[in-house]
Amino acid sequence: MDRIAVFPGSFDPVTKGHESIIRRSLTLFDKIIIAVGENAGKQSYFTLDQRLGWLHELFENENKIEIGFYSGLTVDFCRAKDARFILRGLRTSADFEFERGIGQMNKLMVPDLETVFLLCEPEYASLSSSIVRDILRHGGDAGMFIPDGIQISSEIAK
Ligand code: ADP
Repeated sequence: MDRIAVFPGSFDPVTKGHESIIRRSLTLFDKIIIAVGENAGKQSYFTLDQRLGWLHELFENENKIEIGFYSGLTVDFCRAKDARFILRGLRTSADFEFERGIGQMNKLMVPDLETVFLLCEPEYASLSSSIVRDILRHGGDAGMFIPDGIQISSEIAK
């Protein structure tokens, strides 16, 4: 049976921290579905199309990677995709507490779905999409935090 993992997130926008988790997990799974979640209660800074577009650009040569989006429960998306793993990155103890709650609730709902955590690389421990958005919003250069080859600027925010 193929080891299919879903890597869910907002990717608003994608950062080098996300990219690192995804690339490092390529040896663990047969297929990784990067799933951009549309959360009704959370207004995104960039449009869904922009967020999906950057992910497509970044991983266009990776045949193990698929890009998708969803708006319901992550566990339902996983079931629809036959994925038995949810992949998440951990930066801090705050991430751990947050992820523990969600991971354990998901486990109760779908017992055979495992959440797999990768510790982030030390240099990305303080990197988040929200910091990147703040830099862009104030006209700063966020280039060093964004994957190589991807152009993201605040002018194109919705
Ligand atoms: P969400 O809104 O679901 O937290 P994000 O796009 O912020 O979505 O994050 C998606 C996943 O990527 C989460 O598991 C998050 O912990 C992880 N992640 C975010 N930033 C980093 C980083 N700098 N290093 C490692 N993992 C990260």
